Amino acid sequence: MIYLDNAATTKPVKDISRLYADYSESGWFNPSALYSPALSVEKEMESSRSVIKSVINAPDMIFTSCGTESANTVIFNGWRRKGKEKFHFITSSYEHPCVYEAFRHLEELGHDVTYVVPGKKGYIDEEDLVKEIRPDTALVAIMHVNNETGAINDITSLSRAVKKANPDTLFFSDGVQGFLHVPFDMKNSMVDYYSASAHKIHGLKGTGALFFRHDSPLREYIYGGGQERNLRSGTENTFGIFVFQKAVSDHLSRNEEISRHLSELKEKCVSSLMKIKGAYLISPERSSDHIINIAFEGVRGEVLLHLLEQNSIYISTGSACSSKKRTYRIHDSVGVPHNISECVIRISFSDENTLDEIDELCKVTELAVERFSRYSRR
Ligand code: PLP
Repeated sequence: MIYLDNAATTKPVKDISRLYADYSESGWFNPSALYSPALSVEKEMESSRSVIKSVINAPDMIFTSCGTESANTVIFNGWRRKGKEKFHFITSSYEHPCVYEAFRHLEELGHDVTYVVPGKKGYIDEEDLVKEIRPDTALVAIMHVNNETGAINDITSLSRAVKKANPDTLFFSDGVQGFLHVPFDMKNSMVDYYSASAHKIHGLKGTGALFFRHDSPLREYIYGGGQERNLRSGTENTFGIFVFQKAVSDHLSRNEEISRHLSELKEKCVSSLMKIKGAYLISPERSSDHIINIAFEGVRGEVLLHLLEQNSIYISTGSACSSKKRTYRIHDSVGVPHNISECVIRISFSDENTLDEIDELCKVTELAVERFSRYSRR
């Protein structure tokens, strides 16, 4: 099997069974209890928090259940409400549904939302963003790395520009595809909130993170025993947290090697695929090394996906969340014509992929495109 859908989810860290053996032996105590085995679990959880925060030099962080929860928490509970009932928000037209649909809901509640369009360059332009800021703009949300095209937004500059235009406006970045892939220093930026999801980086589903500054407003949103900084009550998913920490530590210990390897995979893959007839590269120049978005004109993405699947090669046509209700919102946002959008595939790597696998992918893709074009010419 050649798995190339790592932007959808990743295979969990290698020694997960050893981690589970430790957990079932001594790591299963409730981290809020007061006896010593429980205190050890709490200590390990706090040390995991420090390791995970260190990736982006974040002031503070709570554990959540996923990237979707982290984003929704900020959008509904993470901004100032002063003297008004309706506020203004800005986001981009190509956000992941967990951000886009949350803003659609704010609109239904009567707030004003402006959707900034990246256009053909593929990323959000500072001027386009700043000109939309108003005195009542409560929150701006611009993703770090786009999950379909891989485009990288310069959230450090964008957040600084937003604060310059209105110091009261808060800035959130969905970091689910950026975390560990694209360097980012939260303290060196004006980003107030940033999100991550463990299952995208070899952790487990059911574990996410929401990073924030000590002075960025966040309202309590799950009421109960006061866990997670009194914001999100409920006994923490300690096993998921330990695996999250392990995934981060493994990555950090080989950070440069992994970056080099991913960049080699991408370079080889793009240059080989672009030689195939009808190839159209959607990922912009400034994009993350783990995502390639490409189309082969005349061959529908779904058809190519299944032709590759017959050779046990797994890719996607786009985000796993939208694969069942396919829309062209993301590709419309970056100016891709519809005859091309329906032919798009997304190939996404992890450091476990090899150059040989890329050779195989390119060989099978070339044959599949050739075979399909021949049939469709008949
Ligand atoms: N944001 C982006 C950019 C994503 O790619 C995803 C998942 O695909 C999410 C958010 C949602 O993360 P989760 O699956 O942890 O809810």
